[in-house]
Amino acid sequence: MVSKIFFLALLAYVFTMNADPTKYARTAKELFQKNKMTGLAMLGIGKIGWIEKPIPECGPLDALVRPLAVSPCTSDIHTVWSGAIGDRHDMILGHECVGQIIKVGSLVKNFKVGDKVVVPAITPDWGAEESQRGYPQHSGGMLGGWKFSNFKDGVFSEAIHINEADANLALLPKEIDPEVGAMLSDMVTTGFHGSELADIKIGDTVCVIGIGPVGLMSVAGASLLGASRIFAVGSRPNCVEAAKKYGATDIINYKEGPIEEQILEKTGGKGVDRVVIAGGDVHTFKQAVKMLKPGGAIGNVNYLGEGEYIDIPRTEWGVGMGHKHIHGGLTPGGRIRMEKLANLVVYGKLDPSHLLTHRFKGFEKVEDALLLMKDKPKDLIKPVVRIHYDDEDSLN
Ligand SMILES: [Zn+2]
Repeated sequence: MVSKIFFLALLAYVFTMNADPTKYARTAKELFQKNKMTGLAMLGIGKIGWIEKPIPECGPLDALVRPLAVSPCTSDIHTVWSGAIGDRHDMILGHECVGQIIKVGSLVKNFKVGDKVVVPAITPDWGAEESQRGYPQHSGGMLGGWKFSNFKDGVFSEAIHINEADANLALLPKEIDPEVGAMLSDMVTTGFHGSELADIKIGDTVCVIGIGPVGLMSVAGASLLGASRIFAVGSRPNCVEAAKKYGATDIINYKEGPIEEQILEKTGGKGVDRVVIAGGDVHTFKQAVKMLKPGGAIGNVNYLGEGEYIDIPRTEWGVGMGHKHIHGGLTPGGRIRMEKLANLVVYGKLDPSHLLTHRFKGFEKVEDALLLMKDKPKDLIKPVVRIHYDDEDSLN
């Protein structure tokens, strides 16, 4: 009996682990024939591997999508290697993707098989109470709109399940390359949300703390919203160069002294109207409050992976009465937002391609791209993986 259980366990192990990604990307026909999908998963804290799973059910409002371009995110790294959202077993990773529809539910009106689509990182349930109150990103509970690679299999998979396809997907305009389009899923929308949360108005002086890919998009968002002077806080040469392309007027290197002191010095002791936090930790709020003018606002989109409390300095916060507003939020998802962001690219107002420093080809390269994100070489901003299929242009 024991040996039989052992044998079955071994068999299950052989079939679920060590799935060979080089055998895929298969055509849609081959995929559905086998009815199993391969994906790069978190096996447990600190462990990743390729696994095989049944293809998800496609409900009447849903769609199944295969990835054309995916990009690993720092949050995938937090999730696996810091255990930031707790332990997960055999959960497929990834949430930044442009894909192609391989199946649609019977009630989906606006998409068909073969369509190329932006898959947002945030895919809310639009009928939820929180969505009706205007916060779809928290549908079903706090951060509940963030499903992929949080509590649902993500996009590093041969078949990605999309709930409420009509509301959550957006067509990828033909002018946008899938690799560039994948930046809309999270980097562009999250970075811009930081600028939105900071309530940037025409002519404002803004400081963006952290110029990784999200912060760079906050710089771009601040520019689009009309900021006059934009301080970008960072030191890596690639990021500094990109920040200037996206509209930064001043670069603040935190290695050259406390950033709030540098900002106060450069603004004649006045500080800035708005601060976007896209990097740092729970103590970054201290610096942000110190450099902010009364009446100003802070927009945080940084994922705070550690610490019990956030550091807010009592005196500089006007002993509680300084009108220094602190906002933090998860980006909204949704079709309309993705269409609007895509239009910025189509009409030449935004070029996310400056984020793409490392390009890979082939589904199996997703693992290399993820490990690159973990190792974070100095010249890295974002890696992206393009996946081609023999039936890409003939699928319908
Ligand atoms: Zn992400």
